[in-house]
Amino acid sequence: MTESRGLVLIVEDERHISDVQRLYLVREGFGVHVEADGTAGLAAARRMRPVAIVLDIGLPGVDGITFCRALREAGDWTPVLLVTARDEEADRILGLELGADDYLTKPFSPRELVARVKTVLRRAAGPPGGAAPQRVGRLSLDPAARTVHCDGEPVDLTATEFNLLAHLLRHLGQVLTRDRLLAEVWGYAGYRDTRMVDVFVSQLRAKLGDASPIRTVRGVGYRATAPGA
Ligand code: CA
Repeated sequence: MTESRGLVLIVEDERHISDVQRLYLVREGFGVHVEADGTAGLAAARRMRPVAIVLDIGLPGVDGITFCRALREAGDWTPVLLVTARDEEADRILGLELGADDYLTKPFSPRELVARVKTVLRRAAGPPGGAAPQRVGRLSLDPAARTVHCDGEPVDLTATEFNLLAHLLRHLGQVLTRDRLLAEVWGYAGYRDTRMVDVFVSQLRAKLGDASPIRTVRGVGYRATAPGA
């Protein structure tokens, strides 16, 4: 028996899809638990504490969007990889706004699924070795503890929101393009819908309010600035 890389929860009502997902994740050393309905999936997430959740949007019981919202409202920040159909773009954006970390569009290759799961887990673990806590204006960010405080109060961020903020702060004052952020925060090479970056930036701004250090550089990307800069 080899040591498991952790349990991945798959919530998917199409058996032929979850069978393939299970096969490839097990082959990569993950433990896998499958639920075919959103309500049972949510109960399993609470009971089993998976390291990541692969979540279909269209589900019987609780749909993927409601699932994601319920999870985050309960203070559960387990990385979520949303699985969406091509015609579900509005739902996909909403899912990301409600705290999903990344998405895959059907049909996807099983290899892509495995790569995305590994990436959300790597992101959730953060950079190896950690780094010194950083203060920018009213914010303080601790890379080792993966915490952010605003005026001394903790701010709840998803793994991806945290990584995006940490990345911008590490490059304080520098303009980072959307493509570069996708490559360096999400691990995407090549073309990908860059609106995902905008969705995550607006979530960060909503959570940080006027303490947000993130500035838009029109037509280019984003930059974090120290107050007064
Ligand atoms: Ca479905």
